[in-house]
Amino acid sequence: MARAAVPGRLNGRLTWRVARLVESWHETPTARTMVFDVPGWPAHIAGQHVDVRLTAEDGYSTQRSYSIAAPADGDRVELTVQRVTNGEASPYLTEVLSTEDLVELRGPVGGWFVWHPTDTRPVLLVAGGSGIVPLMAMIRVRRAAGTLTPFRLVYSIRAPDERYYAAGLRSLERVGDNLDVAYVYTRAAPEDWPRPPGRIGADDLIARGWRPDVEPSCFVCGPTGFVETVANILIALGHDPRRIKTERFGPNGG
Ligand SMILES: Cc1cc2nc3c(=O)[nH]c(=O)nc-3n(C[C@H](O)[C@H](O)[C@H](O)COP(=O)(O)OP(=O)(O)OC[C@H]3O[C@@H](n4cnc5c(N)ncnc54)[C@H](O)[C@@H]3O)c2cc1C
Repeated sequence: MARAAVPGRLNGRLTWRVARLVESWHETPTARTMVFDVPGWPAHIAGQHVDVRLTAEDGYSTQRSYSIAAPADGDRVELTVQRVTNGEASPYLTEVLSTEDLVELRGPVGGWFVWHPTDTRPVLLVAGGSGIVPLMAMIRVRRAAGTLTPFRLVYSIRAPDERYYAAGLRSLERVGDNLDVAYVYTRAAPEDWPRPPGRIGADDLIARGWRPDVEPSCFVCGPTGFVETVANILIALGHDPRRIKTERFGPNGG
């Protein structure tokens, strides 16, 4: 039987595509959103990621994974990268890459950590730092689809100036969009913030998450240690492990 062609794959393998940086801006002093034009991009689902390959003039190349931050939009692929001190790829992407520069990009990758707007089950999103990126894609896809599936986001960051997508989240909350956003500050909170700075704990997820009997779909993303802590808390609170999906971005990340 003839095999159906899967977009973006050649003989079942993902193919590298040339991606041109067309627009970028800083989300925070150390995180940059970049919009790439990727001719022939086969579309993607919220939660998926891409591999980015960087090649130096001497032929040395390296690749890293980055989540897609926005819904499918023709040939555009939007990423947000956090600069990791002493990192190899992220300082280049956040500080050196200029408009019109080219990188290679492969994807979309991943079919598990994804959310479809047809899913009407309440959703709990828990982000640590740059782990907000694929969760923001889910929030944006939901908005674009015009569904009012209840979403709750618990977003842990060190300090207020580390918030990604602050204006976008504020405006979505303001229009009574059935989206609740709770920030958990680990090192410095805004003045008069009711919760003292500290790591995310069961109290945060009880106060701003869903009760387990609501049977929400849970998506947890961030540094490895953060994801493991949150997943363990959710299970201890009684959430069904089969409805907890996790994505780990790497080391603890501070
Ligand atoms: C599926 C997936 C999706 C991802 N999506 C994103 C995303 O949307 N945005 C984003 O900014 N990153 C994302 N990452 C992380 C990204 O792939 C890189 O690991 C990160 O950019 C660091 O790469 P680097 O080359 O700068 O650092 P490296 O040179 O690889 O590492 C340098 C040092 O930093 C440490 N380190 C590596 N990764 C991290 C990290 N994530 N946090 C803290 N310290 C680290 C290493 O242990 C090492 O000590 C994702 C990772 C995965 C697996």
